[in-house]
Amino acid sequence: MIVINNLKKKFGSLSVLEDINLTIETGRIYGLVGRSGAGKSTLLRCINGLETYDEGSLLVDGIEVKSLKYEEAREFKKDIGMIFQQFSLLSRMNVYENISFPMKCWKYPKNKIDKRVRELAEIVGISDKLNFKPSQLSGGQKQRVAIARALSMDPKILLCDEATSALDPKTAKSIVSLLNQINRQLGITIVMVTHQMSVLKSSCEEISILENGKIAESGLVEDIFLKQPRALINLIGDKDNVIFSKGVNIKILLSKNIYDKPIITKMSRELQIDFIIADGKLEKYKDSVMGSVIVNVSENDSSKVMKYLDSNNVKWSLYNSIESECEISEEEDATYA
Ligand code: ADP
Ligand code: MG
Repeated sequence: MIVINNLKKKFGSLSVLEDINLTIETGRIYGLVGRSGAGKSTLLRCINGLETYDEGSLLVDGIEVKSLKYEEAREFKKDIGMIFQQFSLLSRMNVYENISFPMKCWKYPKNKIDKRVRELAEIVGISDKLNFKPSQLSGGQKQRVAIARALSMDPKILLCDEATSALDPKTAKSIVSLLNQINRQLGITIVMVTHQMSVLKSSCEEISILENGKIAESGLVEDIFLKQPRALINLIGDKDNVIFSKGVNIKILLSKNIYDKPIITKMSRELQIDFIIADGKLEKYKDSVMGSVIVNVSENDSSKVMKYLDSNNVKWSLYNSIESECEISEEEDATYA
């Protein structure tokens, strides 16, 4: 488990991380998102001890990272693997040598190294490429080698810094599936820095949005994407939704319990009212499907619709513009979580 409390970090006079508080449970896939320069890579580097912090506490399985001395720090770093956008493979070495490199540095016996390299190559699906040089591999294959190398010391945590950002969407998807599989099968905690929303949705349970070194929003990934808080809008831009100026726009949340039920047509039939559907979408998340529909109803019908939704435990919010969008009430929040 990673527990960060009031962490602060400066580079000279530049404050890069301010009052970071977050907890990442063991075995989770946790997403960190934010614009370039927000402090994501610095936070990852604080977690594996590559960077120190000025104030606050960062505990990895109860160990205060900055208190570690040279030899302890070296042992500690063994437990944390890391992969990067640019793969960082050694170009003069072949795949086998790249994967075995950390084990060689730790002077593992040759037969143990050989067994492990072959196991890892099997897990990441590059068993037939062991004699290839990185220049002979595609981006996806290179990242698979980097993942195998990061797993070679049996880490408890894998830090991924924009690991899929240099890959085309299909290849990125296959790497995300591999990371999900590694998390599931090996129980490794994964902290994923990415700006790709599809990656967050298909792999993370929880995310934090970093803005200028601060956590602007944290929570379950589905919650954040459904509610679209300002910090998320700042990141992904405003959707060009058609917003009707007449009547009342209501955003109906199709949570995981109701996304496959005909809520909208049933409501129309039972209340005997017509309305316009202005927007609607269902999306796949890691373990669920969810979405929302925006309907435009007449002023007269709006209270009937709200009552109907409430009595059927369907969450909704007024949707006039992003700025004036109503917050979902705390009570509804709790039932949603
Ligand atoms: P992100 O990964 O979110 O793009 P970084 O953590 O790389 O952001 O950087 C956060 C801020 O810290 C940026 O303003 C960057 O210029 C600065 N920074 C990062 N590393 C250093 C460093 N070693 N020395 C000075 N400034 C740094
Ligand atoms: Mg970065």
